[in-house]
Amino acid sequence: MPTPPTIDVLSQRLADSGLRSTPQREVVYNVLLAKRDHPTADEVYVRVKAELPTISLATVYNCLETLVQCRLVRSVNFERGPTRYCPNLRPHAHFHDEKTGETHDIDLPPSLLETVNGILPKGYDAKSVEIIFRGSAAHPASNAGANGATSGIVPPSN
Ligand SMILES: [Zn+2]
Repeated sequence: MPTPPTIDVLSQRLADSGLRSTPQREVVYNVLLAKRDHPTADEVYVRVKAELPTISLATVYNCLETLVQCRLVRSVNFERGPTRYCPNLRPHAHFHDEKTGETHDIDLPPSLLETVNGILPKGYDAKSVEIIFRGSAAHPASNAGANGATSGIVPPSN
């Protein structure tokens, strides 16, 4: 059976960071790709356990940490909430629906990012910018994936 391309991407990214792909890391990454709803570590743990019943929460945390370190996954923090994980590597903002607690990806056009970075004073070099919208989404249930964020696999770009 050929290796799924996402696993190749994972192996390559891990190798770039001097790490090896492990079944645990693969399953954690696949779980994040399968349902892009910005799960917490606990939620990831529940999903991973369905495939690897013996895995521990500590291992899941370690895997998530590794994936964030090698930049395959973004950690997302809303104040006072637990860290959430996002495998979408396109520049995007997060829309936090305060009614449902759901988080939606909103693609950021490059021109907007240029504008945002353009307001930085001279000598300030931002590695990343985070934009979080808070409010309510029109059709949270039926609209999932309408912006393309939840469908398809986006290979990481350097
Ligand atoms: Zn996201």
